Amino acid sequence: MKMDNSNQWHCTSQNEPRGYIQPQSLDELWFHAGTNCNLRCPFCLEGSKPGDNRIEFLTLTDARRFMDEALEFGVKKFSFTGGEPFVNPEFIQILDYALELRPCLVLTNATEPLMNQIGDVLPLLDRPNSLNFRVSLDHPDPVKHDESRGRGNFRKALATLGRLYREGFGVSIARLMLSGEDSATVDCAYTPYFESAGVPLDLTIIKFPDFHLPGSLPQVAEITETCMTRYLSAEQRDKFMCNFSKMIVRKNGQCGVYACTLVDDVENYDLGKTLHEAMEKRVLLGHHRCYSCFAGGASCSEG
Ligand code: SF4
Repeated sequence: MKMDNSNQWHCTSQNEPRGYIQPQSLDELWFHAGTNCNLRCPFCLEGSKPGDNRIEFLTLTDARRFMDEALEFGVKKFSFTGGEPFVNPEFIQILDYALELRPCLVLTNATEPLMNQIGDVLPLLDRPNSLNFRVSLDHPDPVKHDESRGRGNFRKALATLGRLYREGFGVSIARLMLSGEDSATVDCAYTPYFESAGVPLDLTIIKFPDFHLPGSLPQVAEITETCMTRYLSAEQRDKFMCNFSKMIVRKNGQCGVYACTLVDDVENYDLGKTLHEAMEKRVLLGHHRCYSCFAGGASCSEG
């Protein structure tokens, strides 16, 4: 989606200066592996599905260039999202290169694309840096999970989660957050499944609110410069992903450096063709998903 680059972007509809983050570091560099996915979940914040190429497959050549550049900024970690990263034909090679440099995190649905390549994934345990997987288990109820992801996919993802853990990889899960939920109770409902998979019962659970489909425009409050200092402390502002991370996104045959993992559907967040260029840019909080960060601290990072 294109947005107006005029004063409207720098100010709210009430003509007040829009809130912003001035990035301070590059602790994490995310890569979008592409919106092609073997599943078709109706709520996917990326709109990913089989054959989708809104965001094209990341190539090894591009990944290497940005990883090498990120080292100059003292990057601590590389993370990968999709789509389903293991659908990308170069993904194993990309991971192989990344793990020579830094610890890595991969977000995955842990179904066939990963299961079918497990023989190529296991040797990655021997690389100098650790590899962690965050597996999507949307609900602690297999029927609800499978309603969106397809029959049998809760069972497959759980089995892959257990296998990865037993083999020695780090694991966590991601789930959907329901409005008004009692989060501790929902988290607790995963315990029997963790037990059966043989993973730690206190496994990290990352929760995501409904971010709406790419290109959607839900009505949320606008964030002004004043809001950022009146309602948030400096410490809270530091925790915004756009303060310490960037995401590489390939569209129309070339890569752009986006402000974070949540805003790749709006061109204003393409901050440049190199990390050096993008790191100089102030991030204006005009995307509806910015309100989730402002109000609830939404973040893809595991810290
Ligand atoms: S969605 Fe959050 S992390 Fe991304 S640009 Fe907006 S405030 Fe920053």
